[in-house]
Amino acid sequence: MAPDYHTLLLAIGLSGFCLAGTLFASWLSSRLERFLLSWAIGIGLTVPAVAVYNAYVTRPDVLLGCLCFALQLASFSFIYGAAWRFRTGRPGRYRILAAFAVSTAFTLPFMVAGYSGLGFIAFNVLLAALLAMTAWEYWRSRAEAPLPLTGISLLYVLTTISFLLCALVLIHDGAWVLEGAPDNWAEDLNLIVAIVGITGIGAMSLALNQWRVAASNRREAMTDALTGLLNRRALFDRYGEKGVEAHAAVIAFDLDHFKAVNDRHGHAVGDAVLCAFARVMTGHAPAAAVAARLGGEEFALVLERVAPDRAMLLAELIRTDFSMQTIPADGDAVSCTVSAGVAFAEHERFSFDVLLNAADKALYLSKQEGRNRISQARERLRIA
Ligand code: GH3
Ligand code: MG
Ligand code: MG
Repeated sequence: MAPDYHTLLLAIGLSGFCLAGTLFASWLSSRLERFLLSWAIGIGLTVPAVAVYNAYVTRPDVLLGCLCFALQLASFSFIYGAAWRFRTGRPGRYRILAAFAVSTAFTLPFMVAGYSGLGFIAFNVLLAALLAMTAWEYWRSRAEAPLPLTGISLLYVLTTISFLLCALVLIHDGAWVLEGAPDNWAEDLNLIVAIVGITGIGAMSLALNQWRVAASNRREAMTDALTGLLNRRALFDRYGEKGVEAHAAVIAFDLDHFKAVNDRHGHAVGDAVLCAFARVMTGHAPAAAVAARLGGEEFALVLERVAPDRAMLLAELIRTDFSMQTIPADGDAVSCTVSAGVAFAEHERFSFDVLLNAADKALYLSKQEGRNRISQARERLRIA
């Protein structure tokens, strides 16, 4: 056995150790990403697996062989479980257990029976299968972050191929019983691919994690926590600079005497009323409409390419539907009404601020005229 074989194994062990440490640290800093923990355990298990294999290379005996198989299969079962959890968000422990049980059941008996060559063939095929399943999970999730996820899938495929080659060479040689650890060009290639795979997957997985954290922060900063609608900031991000095209409408809503609902029934019931309104509003809005909670009990609906009559009708539908809602409150049933103002950008592109202000003014008219009604902005808006 050439001495550089041990050096390659050492390199795998070290890169596995460093990557497991980094993944574990990433998991500590964002505990919600539970797949990172399975991933860290999976990569971490390669370290003892490689150490045991290194011992087996020098002194091949059945016990060391079985231990090495079990550790490496456990490692890849965890890595597969992490991929499954990454895609589905569901705990992968039963998958990990099943993958481990099945893969050891098909490898260890050969080793124990003295057919170490068959054992290594089964071992390589099963490792390849686990890696291929892992690659498939990341490939299926690639829409989330195309570049790192495609890269990760490809690296897993590359590693899959290198394990398959190890099995094929043994099959080709008819090596059913081996004197020691398999020693051929495919094994050497496999070690090099493993080093590339571990470091490459490591780098891309960290990029991926950063991407996920940033995306979830972005989403949170743009979403109203109570209703799940966009918040004021998100609405202005969307329209503040670019304005709205001609034939857009803004409907501004404000719940009527909402303070009284809070005073009489408490804040929690008030919150339920706000959610009920959000549901009614989004329930009637067309799919392309943008619904937002501007703050407190004020909401806005932006409709692009809509006729004035249609926008008025929609506001009216939302108003009547909401007035018929009853929200349970300690045996009581609370109902509430809403006032609205509607403004249009008739012939040209408009500043969103101007349009929203016009809708607000119209809303104020609705309040003055007795609430629970819709008003149309009086002035014809023309200036951007
Ligand atoms: P008007 O018909 O003139 O609009 O009267 P109003 O009572 O609806 O208006 P006002 O602005 O006086 O009261 C708004 C109330 O909304 C006051 C505030 O306590 C309540 N509010 C604001 N945000 C929330 C919230 O997130 N949850 C609950 N439950 N209440 C809120
Ligand atoms: Mg208000
Ligand atoms: Mg109000």
